[in-house]
Amino acid sequence: MALISCPECGRDVSDQAAACPNCAYPIEARKSDGEVKIRINTPILLAKIRVIDVKKNEDICLTRNGEVIRLNLKEPITIQFKANGWGGLKLGEPVVIDPKVSKKYELKEVPGAFMQRYVVREVDFIDSD
Ligand SMILES: [Zn+2]
Repeated sequence: MALISCPECGRDVSDQAAACPNCAYPIEARKSDGEVKIRINTPILLAKIRVIDVKKNEDICLTRNGEVIRLNLKEPITIQFKANGWGGLKLGEPVVIDPKVSKKYELKEVPGAFMQRYVVREVDFIDSD
């Protein structure tokens, strides 16, 4: 448990509280509001994977097959997955991640004619839930 500053009135409030005791601002709802999980399901790809914020042109994190990344988003974000190495091989197209649309996504390897392709899709369930 940690104390955070209420975004509405500025008073210290537990991050576990359902609402601010001073002004009733919904703390718990807000905290989980923007959390998005993305499961990395790329068993053939041995390289680590860069997760890039396309608009800011910044790396968000480095991940790899089997991991679940968590992003806390205040607004939709466009991300691109790229292999770390392998000439920065793009893993699928840039994709918009919007916590209002779905909170669970998966980067998935799909067998192709010559080499595997990569898609990001919404999923209902992530093992770590
Ligand atoms: Zn408050």
